[in-house]
Amino acid sequence: MEAKDFIRAQVVEDLASGKHARIITRFPPEPNGYLHIGHAKSICLNFGVAQEAGGECNLRFDDTNPEKEDQEYIDAIKRDVNWLGFQWAGETRYASGYFDALYDYALQLIRMGKAYVDSQSPEEISQGRSTHNGAGIESPYRNRSVEENLALFEKMRNGEFDEGSCVLRAKVDMASPNINLRDPVIYRIKKVPHHQTGDKWVIYPMYDYTHPISDALEYITHSLCTLEFEDHRPFYDWLLETLGTPAHPQQIEFSRLNLNYTVTSKRKLKKLVDEGHVNGWDDPRMPTIAGLRRRGYTPESLRDFCDRIGISKSEGVVDVGMLEFCIRNHLENTAPRAMAVLNPLKVVITNVGDETQILRSARHPNLPELGEREIPFTREIVIDAADFSDNPPKGFKRLVQGGEVRLRHSYVIRCDEVVRNEAGEIVELRCTADLDTLGKNPEGRKVKGVIQWVSATVGVAAEVRLYDRLFTQPDPEAGDDGFLGCINPEAFKVVQAMVEPSLAAAAPEDRFQFEREGYFVADLTDSKPGKPVFNRTVGLRDSWGG
Ligand code: ATP
Ligand code: MG
Ligand code: MG
Repeated sequence: MEAKDFIRAQVVEDLASGKHARIITRFPPEPNGYLHIGHAKSICLNFGVAQEAGGECNLRFDDTNPEKEDQEYIDAIKRDVNWLGFQWAGETRYASGYFDALYDYALQLIRMGKAYVDSQSPEEISQGRSTHNGAGIESPYRNRSVEENLALFEKMRNGEFDEGSCVLRAKVDMASPNINLRDPVIYRIKKVPHHQTGDKWVIYPMYDYTHPISDALEYITHSLCTLEFEDHRPFYDWLLETLGTPAHPQQIEFSRLNLNYTVTSKRKLKKLVDEGHVNGWDDPRMPTIAGLRRRGYTPESLRDFCDRIGISKSEGVVDVGMLEFCIRNHLENTAPRAMAVLNPLKVVITNVGDETQILRSARHPNLPELGEREIPFTREIVIDAADFSDNPPKGFKRLVQGGEVRLRHSYVIRCDEVVRNEAGEIVELRCTADLDTLGKNPEGRKVKGVIQWVSATVGVAAEVRLYDRLFTQPDPEAGDDGFLGCINPEAFKVVQAMVEPSLAAAAPEDRFQFEREGYFVADLTDSKPGKPVFNRTVGLRDSWGG
């Protein structure tokens, strides 16, 4: 494998030195929300490293907060990881699957004099752990005997104490400058059922206790996590060292992904969903993997993005334009072309009859294997209202009264007459086609503009959803009202479009370049054959702010 970043370099070294014969990584989401683009970075890293090293990667749900977790999230996370193109080794794993082992390890710690039941209130504990003259303050319960601790912990487990009345704490070092070593809580009482273990437990282990042991039980070689866990590493190592677990994985931290115009925190994304600012976790405006998928992003484009941003320890903010570049780049080379008119204006071609003429064009300019599609040309067509102007700005190359324009894949037409309603609005253009211009330039003059069009009679009506960036500010948190204060009201618009008939058969998730408009996908949920619904994935070029 190529040592293209410091983590891969470590893995290469550990294989070369014989420290490990086989690499095992894990992706450990908490099932308390949907995965977002930040998680994609971690997925690509963990699965990528394992794949490149010929090893394997586990999927483990870090499910130690039952009240925030849900089966819906578990299902969504599995679907998203698979959709991104990865398969975990063997069964899905759950930290809750180790609750018995974790309990036994807790008994071991107590017997070693390395854990105690603390009967202080949560406030007293947190007060005691904060710094007073450079150190924390020991709990009055810190020196309970092993027997007393075993008896109390047993009672905690049996539900004999109220929530918040006591906890189990590791006995490490109250004077440590690292607060994570000041006797962290490792078990607390929560009388709530768990989505995996039902009502078997009324005490639940804490993340910082559960994670290292779960890693060790799975013989993880490299436990890759984001930088905020750097300060937790000493406890990770203390715990595994103290318990003498059969494996001692190496925790390595890397910087998390931050994207401008985006929030990447499940808690905040959940707020957007719960408060109805978006239509669910998979709303195409959301930076969730499910939302990006519905928006039209491909797994290839997300993997390409993760590859381009790379892995390092330096914190930075990635431009969302980079993500948009990756999907444009992929679709440019794969998506069939089609014509859609988003804001239809009727055009009557007065010199052609009522019969339909079938024109043809390649589905993709560079992919002959995609074949051709039929484009019916009829007496009545629609063009985009923005492609005609009765008051053209300087340099306007599209249709004007008395002027000519090329209909893409078809004829050059001239606008002879503009028909208005009583309110003075343009309702129809009457044009003549130069029937000698199919596939060739007109005689004796240059026609610069080319516009898309669709038959008004055999074209297909389609709902098109125009999406844009969800936030108006590069740093959605920066303003006084936080991210909820800069939601872009223009980020979602629906238009009734006309699309060429070949699009009627589009299957959900078929992707297209609508010529001159951008990239669109048939909606995963709402698009039906014969009644297509398209989502705009991204425009043809980076036009934000321009
Ligand atoms: P959030 O704050 O959004 O809830 P989290 O870290 O609490 O994120 P987990 O479900 O615990 O969410 O994340 C699973 C894995 O994904 C963790 O290893 C975590 O470090 C990683 N991860 C989460 N967010 C990012 C990010 N923005 N960039 C890179 N990795 C991330
Ligand atoms: Mg987490
Ligand atoms: Mg979190």
